[in-house]
Amino acid sequence: MALLEIRAIDKNYGGLAALDQVNCNVEQGKIISLIGPNGAGKTTLFNAITGTMQADGGTVMFDGEDITGLKTHEVIKKGLARTFQHIRLFKKMTVMENVLAGLHTKTRCGIVGALMRPSWVAREEEEARARAMEVFELFDERLLPRINQQVDNLSYANQRRVEIARAIAPNPKLILLDEPTAGMNPNETQGIVDLIYRLRDMGFTIFVIEHKMRLVMTVSDRIIVLDHGVKIAEGPPEEIAENETVAQAYMGKRSHAQID
Ligand code: ATP
Repeated sequence: MALLEIRAIDKNYGGLAALDQVNCNVEQGKIISLIGPNGAGKTTLFNAITGTMQADGGTVMFDGEDITGLKTHEVIKKGLARTFQHIRLFKKMTVMENVLAGLHTKTRCGIVGALMRPSWVAREEEEARARAMEVFELFDERLLPRINQQVDNLSYANQRRVEIARAIAPNPKLILLDEPTAGMNPNETQGIVDLIYRLRDMGFTIFVIEHKMRLVMTVSDRIIVLDHGVKIAEGPPEEIAENETVAQAYMGKRSHAQID
């Protein structure tokens, strides 16, 4: 049984099939990439999985449970985490506060606990901070010196790292990364490649949308290709690299597939 099983997912936007009967699996402990030209439906599929948008049909099974139609906060509680193509952080909060916000599903402290502050609330906070520090260490010296900085003062690449840190912090079973290297230079991109490997080695399962083909071909155990909402190919990188239908889909103006 795969960790994530997507069956016959459909989504229409005013007559346009953003997703058309899409089936795919993500196996435990693997790095699976989702690629395709602009407008292929990649983000829409992530939205359908994470409850950001309701699909018109189909099912999403996660860890043996039907999570179709669940709200985003319920999906997160099941052990799924994601980052967004357009960074979504609390820009006026610090790096640490953003990652602590990602951990709130793991803590029990409600409004009464926050006001009364019994000892277990302080203990939970301490544990959450310790967990956040563990996660910052995965990013070497990129985030550690900046944990008390406001997010909108950080570079774009560091904001992306904070978003990934926030996703990892609750120890999800599956991490969905939507273009984690967008706007990063080759050096920064390599840092994300190293991080993805590190996360996989730590036991995380990763489903990633990427346009940078060198990255995709390097890190993926398997690649799923969408075009016009339809899955047109699926297989290991060496097979996808040779696939004529995929090459055709990427030709023309719509694509911004990148080599590095
Ligand atoms: P990109 O690589 O450019 O991010 P993508 O593969 O992630 O593209 P989606 O963003 O999933 O593609 O979009 C798939 C199709 O659905 C596109 O034609 C897009 O215009 C359309 N679409 C997505 N969201 C909406 C929406 N909220 N309302 C109307 N159409 C939408």
